[in-house]
Amino acid sequence: MSAGKTIFKRIIDKEIPAKIVHEDDLCLAFHDVNPQAPTHVLIIPKREIASLADVTSGDQALLGHLLLTAHSLAKQLELADGYRVVINCGRNGGQTVDHLHLHLLGGRSLGWPPG
Ligand code: 5GP
Repeated sequence: MSAGKTIFKRIIDKEIPAKIVHEDDLCLAFHDVNPQAPTHVLIIPKREIASLADVTSGDQALLGHLLLTAHSLAKQLELADGYRVVINCGRNGGQTVDHLHLHLLGGRSLGWPPG
């Protein structure tokens, strides 16, 4: 039964497919279905945390793990020319899926500031 699950929880539970590039005990990483750059990967904790606004000091190791995974994937995906890691948080932050996720974007020059 998947009622009430976010789309990312359904990906974690393998109920819907995703192009997975990394999986371990704590997190899953997969290609974004609507990429905004030649490389656009999402890194999500397996534990359900709605947003960055909901983390606590007890999540310190998990948050570090997510960033270190971004670091490893940037090497694996050959983003030697640079990349960006983004966390959208809440409505004004542009978050559309209520499961914490890091965007890893690269493969082109990225503008700043974001819109
Ligand atoms: P947000 O806007 O919440 O920061 O990012 C959510 C991201 O999830 C978007 O970039 C969107 O394209 C991606 N996304 C939404 N649904 C799916 C899906 O079913 N599969 C994959 N791979 N990505 C998704």
